[in-house]
Amino acid sequence: MRHYLFLILFLLTGCHSDPQPEPIQYSVPTEVEPYIQSFRKEAKKRNSQVSTDNLIVTFGSAVSEDICGECLLDNGKTPRITLNSDAFCWQQASQQARECLVFHELGHCLLKRAHKTDKYPNGAYVSLMNPNDVAIYAACLYPIGGDECNKRPRRDYYIDELFDANTPTPVWGK
Ligand SMILES: [Zn+2]
Repeated sequence: MRHYLFLILFLLTGCHSDPQPEPIQYSVPTEVEPYIQSFRKEAKKRNSQVSTDNLIVTFGSAVSEDICGECLLDNGKTPRITLNSDAFCWQQASQQARECLVFHELGHCLLKRAHKTDKYPNGAYVSLMNPNDVAIYAACLYPIGGDECNKRPRRDYYIDELFDANTPTPVWGK
């Protein structure tokens, strides 16, 4: 039990000894701002009290090549999201895919959600918080899967689940 407690305390305090919390700050690239506004709108619709006032989003190379975004949560510091601006992750991604990515990172950074890899029997991910396919309610770039390709009608469910992990299974997941 002691070891666990130690581990938890260590994780919470990280390796920083500086007790000074960072002031509240908001810095989001113009290109990303519409998705933050959309997040606020969806939060409000669901009566979520989440605040986006303390947030830094940057495009950066801190993200490794094979991931599109990351959230850095450090005790007392402003949550930081770094997005990969490459063609696949951002430049050529659809608006829907961009929203999926930004919402996934806000899920980590503001809603404190962890990854969730569960799938429904039909193979669809249960959550936008899955680490493998973030563009989960975007239409595909190359519609080779017919109707299966357009996941847009699933958007409401995935955003419900983002704000409430206990959202019941949707009809298409059964
Ligand atoms: Zn993630």
